[in-house]
Amino acid sequence: MTKVFHFDAPREKYQCDAAVIWCFDNRFQLGLTRYLKRIGIINSDPIKIAGGAKSLASPEHEADREFVLEQIRKSIRLHGTTRVALMLHSDCGAYGGLAGGFNGDVRTEASHHEDELRRAAAFLKEAIPDVRVLAYFVDFDGVWEVDVTDRAASSVTG
Ligand SMILES: [Zn+2]
Repeated sequence: MTKVFHFDAPREKYQCDAAVIWCFDNRFQLGLTRYLKRIGIINSDPIKIAGGAKSLASPEHEADREFVLEQIRKSIRLHGTTRVALMLHSDCGAYGGLAGGFNGDVRTEASHHEDELRRAAAFLKEAIPDVRVLAYFVDFDGVWEVDVTDRAASSVTG
């Protein structure tokens, strides 16, 4: 092979602030990255897949779930990750888009994705109980947090 570019990458291993399960839709990368930085998530392990947390909540294939779990487990093993941030976003092609999937209704979409994030968080916590889970819906105006703590879950079910 031929060297085409020079730069110095850090050689030290790092402690990962959070593994981030997000969609590769690039429109939302900057906004979410800025928010995560604000809450101290700077060294992240980005796990970018179409649909983001959909693979945990309502995967097209059951194997998708195991694939994502394995990525998270590797992040934990290699980089000491203790937090996982789940992300869904508006107008996501994996859900048919805002127009195709939700008839352009932003409220229906947001509420659907809130439920999806709760499903994804519940599945993840059951599979990897030690990890702390954060959940975000990102739309064209900003980042919305869904409370997926156990306290929130028990107030829904009880
Ligand atoms: Zn998407």
